[in-house]
Amino acid sequence: MASEEYDVVIIGSGVGGGAVAHQLAGSAARVLVLERGTELPHEPQNRDAEAVFCEHRYRTTETWTSGARRFRPGQFYFVGGHTSFYGAAMFRLRERDFEATEHEDGLSPAWPIDYAALEPWYAVAERLFGVHGAAGLDPCEPWRSAPYPHGPVPHEPVIAEIEQRLRRRGLQPFPMPIAIDLHEGGRCERCSTCDAFPCLVDAKGDARTRLLAPALRQANVTLRTQALVTRLVTDSSGRRIVAAEVVRHGERQKVRGRHFVLAAGAINSAALLLRSATGAFPQGLANRSGTVGRHFMNHNCTALMAIDPARRNETRLPKTLALNDWYFGDAARGEPPLGHLQLLGKVGEPMLRGAMPRWVPRAAREWLAAHSVDWYAMSEDLPHADSRVGLNSDGSIDLQWRRTNQRTHRRLVAKACGLMRRIGYPLVFGKPFGLESPSHQCGTVRFGNDPAQSALDPWCRAWDHDNLHVVDASFFPSSGAVNPALTVAAQALRVGHHLRGEELQ
Ligand SMILES: Cc1cc2nc3c(=O)[nH]c(=O)nc-3n(C[C@H](O)[C@H](O)[C@H](O)COP(=O)(O)OP(=O)(O)OC[C@H]3O[C@@H](n4cnc5c(N)ncnc54)[C@H](O)[C@@H]3O)c2cc1C
Repeated sequence: MASEEYDVVIIGSGVGGGAVAHQLAGSAARVLVLERGTELPHEPQNRDAEAVFCEHRYRTTETWTSGARRFRPGQFYFVGGHTSFYGAAMFRLRERDFEATEHEDGLSPAWPIDYAALEPWYAVAERLFGVHGAAGLDPCEPWRSAPYPHGPVPHEPVIAEIEQRLRRRGLQPFPMPIAIDLHEGGRCERCSTCDAFPCLVDAKGDARTRLLAPALRQANVTLRTQALVTRLVTDSSGRRIVAAEVVRHGERQKVRGRHFVLAAGAINSAALLLRSATGAFPQGLANRSGTVGRHFMNHNCTALMAIDPARRNETRLPKTLALNDWYFGDAARGEPPLGHLQLLGKVGEPMLRGAMPRWVPRAAREWLAAHSVDWYAMSEDLPHADSRVGLNSDGSIDLQWRRTNQRTHRRLVAKACGLMRRIGYPLVFGKPFGLESPSHQCGTVRFGNDPAQSALDPWCRAWDHDNLHVVDASFFPSSGAVNPALTVAAQALRVGHHLRGEELQ
């Protein structure tokens, strides 16, 4: 087995891995990023809903199980990770999301750091990703030390009218914070394919364009694609990781390092730690607490199509509006935190094909897609110890999702449907997202203050291994009810800064 050595080995080139690479770029450390996927090709199919949604051109072909059920998950393995496909909604968690909060199904636990610790890094992340937004309008937004780097993306006419109708109902819609290069001199062409599509013209602020590409311009950072890490190896004391075993083009390699940063995504990072079990660590690495793989969360999400039969919706970029009036519910009326509403990317006919019963004729799907305004309702999923990533005997992933807060989510969806009818959209159809779409996966290698209850310390360093950090969405102890990528970026930037300043000296 060939072997080589680096100062820092980063596993995964998504937001978490990319942010640490960005922080270490230009330092004295020799940094290697190992990514299982390839560069995503820029090709006409990037914008083709048929290719993306019907042929699943970019989705992994690997299959996972959930007990007896086998499925092909909505996972995308490319340089830049899932942000190459994300909808670019870049939200900060609320201050209260960092505190213990009572929900209908139990407690959303406190984080080991407060909002103030992450705030400066949220600001850095927004700057790097080029987020558009307007402060002071979101009713539960947290305080900020800097304005958004760019003003809000203006609404197209249908969305502007919805905003007015919501305001007349006493609600407080606000411009969605979004990382799209849509300002003077920007690259965005309003092509209407953002959400779940790769961007053909690199106008989406994603981990590849905003973190990795600048890092790779520095001589000390190297990216190696098609490098699947299969196992981490410790020294004889078990305190240090000494190597990553890698399979590349069918060959096994060993990459040695002084520091390892695991950022393979919440499900794959947990699986890798479990697969690295040894006699000394029979439960897997970083897992004396027994928490690795557990507390898997994935927001409760429902797509809603609100239809005004009298009006076509020609909006190309609808992701400019969101609503947080019900985020924390109404405690005075005994209402628990309900969650968040935002506009989805424009739904097209091919997307409905897989989502609707086969007997629905194509013409009906086309009519629905032409008339709908599409929303995304999102409620917090709570960490449950039996919601977990496990391994089958062949090493493949088994995912058990013990969903929580479902009544809460149904309440949010019912309120949203009622609201849409009142603002002029008499028909509303909903489709909940299931296990096969682990888009907002998190929580499986949680950080905390107590080594008995968490795998990582507040700097995302493994309690059990001095030179292992885990910086993808797996560190989340709770999920909040807004999209996760900006929070992953902020914490990984914080950790990368710490690593460069304190640990690599
Ligand atoms: C369709 C879609 C839309 C979304 N929209 C939004 C949105 O609008 N806003 C938002 O905030 N979030 C959104 N998300 C979620 C967001 O993309 C993720 O939260 C975020 O990208 C997670 O980053 P990560 O670094 O934790 O992991 P990932 O992005 O999963 O990165 C992990 C990387 O590690 C690589 N890898 C995995 N295993 C190995 C291995 N064994 N060896 C080597 N490399 C490995 C993967 O290929 C990948 O590149 C969306 C997700 C999807 C799928």
